[in-house]
Amino acid sequence: MIYLLLLIIAIAILLLFAEKFLAVEEDAIVEKINDLLPQTQCGQCDYPGCKPYAKAIANGEVDINKCQPGGERVIKELAELLGKEAKAPAKEQKSPQVVVIDEDKCIGCTKCIQVCPPDCIIGAVKKMHTVVEKDCTGCELCIEVCPVDCIDIVKLKQQFKYSKVKVNID
Ligand code: SF4
Ligand code: SF4
Ligand code: SF4
Repeated sequence: MIYLLLLIIAIAILLLFAEKFLAVEEDAIVEKINDLLPQTQCGQCDYPGCKPYAKAIANGEVDINKCQPGGERVIKELAELLGKEAKAPAKEQKSPQVVVIDEDKCIGCTKCIQVCPPDCIIGAVKKMHTVVEKDCTGCELCIEVCPVDCIDIVKLKQQFKYSKVKVNID
């Protein structure tokens, strides 16, 4: 009887260690996936940010081709990391873009500031707002919330590594 009890305790301890080990392994995979994502937190993958998307990929809940800003480069890197086949992006790739605010029309409601993932809109309540172009990822989240429709898209000629270096068309 005592041996049976000891055996059950030993199995329980082993299961506990195995669970902890697997959790650590899973966290490590999530971090590796997350490191490959652009970190714009734009939500265009239908998850609230890069880390939740990384977790969903690690859990096998979603495909690796849903990151819009990451495009084919990120899909390829994720495929290599996870030993999967690289697929075409789930959504059509946007050409590089940023947004500009028509400061004459802006009513200073601050709604755009509240949704901008890289925090690149400057302004205060009832004061005009402006976009710091070098940090804008062109995610368009601010456009949807603007009540006076004063935010416009500007297409760019070239964009290296998401939004770090940009060259305007004109
Ligand atoms: S679409 Fe890409 S960059 Fe945007 S939140 Fe999802 S993983 Fe991050
Ligand atoms: S498009 Fe708008 S919300 Fe997105 S990064 Fe640029 S300013 Fe921010
Ligand atoms: S949401 Fe539109 S009106 Fe409101 S602060 Fe931003 S740009 Fe101005």
